[in-house]
Amino acid sequence: MGGLAAAIRLRLAGHTVAVYEANGYVGGKLAVLQVGAYRFDAGPSLFTQPDYHAELFKLAGKNPADYFAYQRLQTVCHYFWPDGSTLQAPADPAALARALEETFGEDSTKVKAYLARGRKKFALAGDIFLNNPLQRLGTFTSAKAAKAIMQIYKLQIFKRLHGLHAATFRHPHTVQLFDRYATYNGSNPYQASALYSMIPSFEHGEGAYFPTEGMASIGQSLYRLATEIGVAFQFNTRVEAIERTGGRVSGIRTAAGIVSADAVVSNADVTHLYRDLMPAAPAPERALAQPLSTSAVVFYWGIRRSFGQLGLHNIFFSADYKAEFKALFQTQQWPEDPTIYLNISAKYKPDDAPAGSENWFVMVNVPAQTALDTPEALATLRQTVLRILSARLGTEIEPLIEAETVLTPTSIQNRTSGWQGALYGSNSNSLWSGFWRHPNFSKRYKGLFFTGGTVHPGGGIPLALKSGQIAARLAQAYLQK
Ligand SMILES: Cc1cc2nc3c(=O)[nH]c(=O)nc-3n(C[C@H](O)[C@H](O)[C@H](O)COP(=O)(O)OP(=O)(O)OC[C@H]3O[C@@H](n4cnc5c(N)ncnc54)[C@H](O)[C@@H]3O)c2cc1C
Repeated sequence: MGGLAAAIRLRLAGHTVAVYEANGYVGGKLAVLQVGAYRFDAGPSLFTQPDYHAELFKLAGKNPADYFAYQRLQTVCHYFWPDGSTLQAPADPAALARALEETFGEDSTKVKAYLARGRKKFALAGDIFLNNPLQRLGTFTSAKAAKAIMQIYKLQIFKRLHGLHAATFRHPHTVQLFDRYATYNGSNPYQASALYSMIPSFEHGEGAYFPTEGMASIGQSLYRLATEIGVAFQFNTRVEAIERTGGRVSGIRTAAGIVSADAVVSNADVTHLYRDLMPAAPAPERALAQPLSTSAVVFYWGIRRSFGQLGLHNIFFSADYKAEFKALFQTQQWPEDPTIYLNISAKYKPDDAPAGSENWFVMVNVPAQTALDTPEALATLRQTVLRILSARLGTEIEPLIEAETVLTPTSIQNRTSGWQGALYGSNSNSLWSGFWRHPNFSKRYKGLFFTGGTVHPGGGIPLALKSGQIAARLAQAYLQK
């Protein structure tokens, strides 16, 4: 996504742009899996901030609706707790506040105030963090930056996310519901900054969306635009090295030979780039040493039954959230009692599964460490997930599975170069993690730029699109010199 965004922007600025992609398809983690009669979006399942995507079409003078369709979700997520409590979370902030008051006795004014503050945090800091390279002085000398710095206390950067939630809400289930948003950038709510309370305010404010043709159509629509404006694509072409002349990047090397270029924008995982594509070059070790975000195991199950109590997005919380994050980030184990995310795109796109059946994307967060990814660990996790879902849904799930495949940290690494299978590069557990994340440019090599979920401003589709914008702007300035 980062690479597509950067390629489109640089082409629109008048440059000749060629994309070299190791896989035979466009979109990276937004892959499609067909397992028997079931279609799955292999990676991302939640689409937010569609404007960042639409902007690329508008920049090209096109109508986004001619390329891509999506709909707003009324219900954002169906939540299930081990004690039998459930909640269907409406997208509308006032309706969510009411639902939390009715279900858990929460003070609805506190919920509304919490979400409003999240929106204010974004209004204050979003522009600085998402539209600019953090590691350039100019970012902090604008009037907007000065305003944000004066009001930095409002961002609650130095509070922990869980601490904020525990102090704001009375019911532990509400705390857990909002804590889970730290996982949107692969982080730990017990360590990450309360700055990230802005994340739930997107879903319960601007909204969450479903692309009518599935998540992969986000990338495919950008690919169509890119080819129409003249970006050239070479698929099944792995970049094997970044070519350098002195302190300047001069191109890339593939199996077919060297391709000269005035600038290179890398959308590969930043650790893969330094370790595998320029191993002899000094690397920014401090940025690469930052602890990784979570990885995931995803079971893709074709289920020959439909479940009325389930929606598009479903979360089955673990009983001890703290123990789960301790396993993910401290003891580095696959959780024994995991929180399970279940996505069913067939709820909105019925042709993803045969009639009366559902395509289950069942995801559990695990540490980013491929060494933990053994057949025994996978078999144990599969049984654990089946036991939990069967108990919570009151039906034996295993006999209903008629098609199956799985994604693990190792396959994430093999398919997209995600280092150790990390979903989003480094995690955001440290209060200063934003500043340690790799920038969108190389400090050492002129002409080398970075985009994608492992560099600034972070992982996920919206931020990857933003990183493409920042990288393209930096590359454009460099090429104009
Ligand atoms: C299971 C899962 C669930 C997720 N859920 C969500 C979600 O719900 N919402 C959300 O917003 N985000 C989610 N994400 C994260 C999201 O997919 C990414 O952050 C986002 O797609 C950005 O990707 P990217 O630009 O970093 O590139 P990637 O998707 O990582 O793509 C990098 C591309 O570079 C190519 N490449 C790498 N090395 C080379 C090389 N040497 N030569 C040539 N090509 C190379 C790869 O083949 C790949 O196509 C999820 C990810 C996963 C895996």
